[in-house]
Amino acid sequence: MTDNFKLAELLFPQIKKTPEDYVAIYPARNLPEGARVTRFAPSPTGFLHFGNLFTCLVSYKTAKSTGGVFYVRVEDTDQKRKVEGAIEVMLKGLSVYGIVPDEGVIAEGEEKGDYAPYYQSQRKDIYQAFAKRLVEEGLAYPCFMSAEELDEIRAQQENESIKGIWGKWAKHRDLSFGEIESRINAGEAWTLRLKSPGTTEGKCFFDDVIKGKIEMPENVQDIVILKSDGIPTYHFAHAIDDHLMRTTHVVRGDEWIASTPIHLQLFKVLGFRPPKYAHVAPIMKEENGGKRKLSKRKDPEAAVTYYAEEGFPSESVNEYMLTLANSNFEDWRRMNQTEDIDKFPFNLKKMSVSGALFDMVKLTDVSKNVICKMPAKKVFDLSYEWAKEYNPALAALYELNPQRATAILNIDRENKKPRKDIAKWSDIPDYISYMFSETFTPNYELAGNATPALAARVLEKYIGIVNLADDKDAWFERIKALCPEVGCTPNVKEYKAEPEKFDGHVGDVSTVIRVALTGRTNTPDLFAITALLGENEVKARLEKALEYYKENA
Ligand code: GLU
Repeated sequence: MTDNFKLAELLFPQIKKTPEDYVAIYPARNLPEGARVTRFAPSPTGFLHFGNLFTCLVSYKTAKSTGGVFYVRVEDTDQKRKVEGAIEVMLKGLSVYGIVPDEGVIAEGEEKGDYAPYYQSQRKDIYQAFAKRLVEEGLAYPCFMSAEELDEIRAQQENESIKGIWGKWAKHRDLSFGEIESRINAGEAWTLRLKSPGTTEGKCFFDDVIKGKIEMPENVQDIVILKSDGIPTYHFAHAIDDHLMRTTHVVRGDEWIASTPIHLQLFKVLGFRPPKYAHVAPIMKEENGGKRKLSKRKDPEAAVTYYAEEGFPSESVNEYMLTLANSNFEDWRRMNQTEDIDKFPFNLKKMSVSGALFDMVKLTDVSKNVICKMPAKKVFDLSYEWAKEYNPALAALYELNPQRATAILNIDRENKKPRKDIAKWSDIPDYISYMFSETFTPNYELAGNATPALAARVLEKYIGIVNLADDKDAWFERIKALCPEVGCTPNVKEYKAEPEKFDGHVGDVSTVIRVALTGRTNTPDLFAITALLGENEVKARLEKALEYYKENA
């Protein structure tokens, strides 16, 4: 036995399976040409950042648009960061946006697929089998340097351009077998380091699917691949897992670009074909004329839970994320207004290289467009679900009469040009407040040519003639007929030609009625509102308004 083999046996006596065994257990996938295998690899912190959701969506779309596989692997090697129930929270968070893994961890503690286990904490033997092989090949070695020694090196390297353990700093690279053996027998702790084959002149090239061609210095650091507890570092686990799980495209945040030379080197020494990398730029936010990353600490919208709390429908957030992901999405949407979003030909190559800008106004706009196309029943159902959790008062209003509530939400909806008043469910309480005696707060402020004196005259007459049995035409005819009696014209053009001849026009008369009934100068269809308020409420509100204007004329 050569020293390398003896060393491998000394370090990993319990590891009996070989890399070949694992490659046989996890064979190449039988997928059609061009099908991509992608994954989402969260650490179980329980916090889903909007950027994670976005990257995850990109990863999911990459697989789904090619008939491939999208799986979830839980990167739980850092037991200190583990949060109970985190995976359930994260998977639920994803499923709201239609992201359901084909494979991997599909619920807390529940796995599906032939490449299990998908929890890194359960893959220790697999990593160690590959680590053992690297030792046998002289490509990895145990390092006994203490935390203090490493700190010292870090301090000494302050002015070095290449930091870390390499060259003269890699003190344990060439320890003899005998020395290693005696240190281990003495119970000294060790980490396993890669014996990096890189040189300072060497270059690393790769073609990132999003960022394009990238050239970086080759890795020269003897990075840690197994920590002292035998658990792999992210770098090593990434190489082993994405190889054995047959990932074709690693879609991840671009903070990993800096480590990609390490990863490519690991793939090489392990004899694996590297995956394609698609590094997603972070979502940015404008601030004081500059740009910064969307921040968990500073921006409530960085948390995916924010959208649920505010009541943005998942459809809206999905549409918005695609506008951020692919610049041609909006054109596609204009041309395919009613098409299912999954029909959009998502393309990784159309991702922004430098980071899309989060824009609340845009999200609001996108969401208004999504909601205005929903039938009233859907608006009712979704907003009722939301209200039960986040706004019990709205849920209670709905429960008074769900049919009436749906009819209210149907005003100016389900037609060619639906109104766009609602961007999120939390807009609804205010939007419909005047439709319920429980929440109506009068406000008699007028607009246009309407004055309190004119309002008093209009209401005096209108109270006598309003008839809830009218159809829309009859209702409007009645209002027009009322105009000359109060010094107004039913004809806006006529008013514009000779404004001095009139106190106002039919629009002003309508404003008076609108304000009396709703407390607002801008509402959806007044006829529908009148009908839904019902005779008693209409009369009562008109009377009260009349009283007010008489007193304040
Ligand atoms: N666990 C890593 C993270 O949360 C995953 C990165 C990757 O996708 O490879 O950042």
